[in-house]
Amino acid sequence: MRRKLPLACSLQSVALFGLLLLAAGSSSPANPDERLVEVTSDNMPGVVLEMRYATERNITGKSIYPDGKAWLRMETIRKLAKVARNLEEKGYRLVIWDAWRPAYAQKALWASKPDGRFLTPPNKISRHARGTSVDLSLADKNGKILEMPSDHDEFNAKADEDFSDVPKEVAKRARILRNAMFAAGFSGVPDEWWHYDLRDWAAYEAIQGGGKD
Ligand SMILES: [Zn+2]
Repeated sequence: MRRKLPLACSLQSVALFGLLLLAAGSSSPANPDERLVEVTSDNMPGVVLEMRYATERNITGKSIYPDGKAWLRMETIRKLAKVARNLEEKGYRLVIWDAWRPAYAQKALWASKPDGRFLTPPNKISRHARGTSVDLSLADKNGKILEMPSDHDEFNAKADEDFSDVPKEVAKRARILRNAMFAAGFSGVPDEWWHYDLRDWAAYEAIQGGGKD
């Protein structure tokens, strides 16, 4: 008996050590939901990930995502891949500012800017929660971020789709993005040039969990 006990303990330790190794090996949390697929350069050619909520460069002033990974529904990714190929021919690459957004992140954003004109209150379902919406910008073919009408979540007149108050070159770029997105089956919103939804977004249910929930 005396010999068995330490053996059992050490087996447990080995198992625990193995688990720790596994946890250390994956630098970020696992897939937040099986209905979501991670965006990579394999499924979206040339994509530049600049997930703003994983940085301090967002309206909360702090990082609210556990990592800079982008998750979307497969159908959203398929259509965006089409857009990416279309833009590649024109010398541009897609930049992703935000994709699927878990409920806790929507709450954090609302706490920073509780204004229904710009954000969905936490008691309603944000389209970003469905994995069918994406916030986009453009980079050049080398991945250099290009000037666009406004910054992400810059809620003012520059952010609307009118583009009359920004340099011509910048307006042209925003229209190239818009045309490519509309052609691939997305719709936009009038007050945020960077935001796009799958046209049939309402057919997809919200996925609230993940990360810190
Ligand atoms: Zn958006």
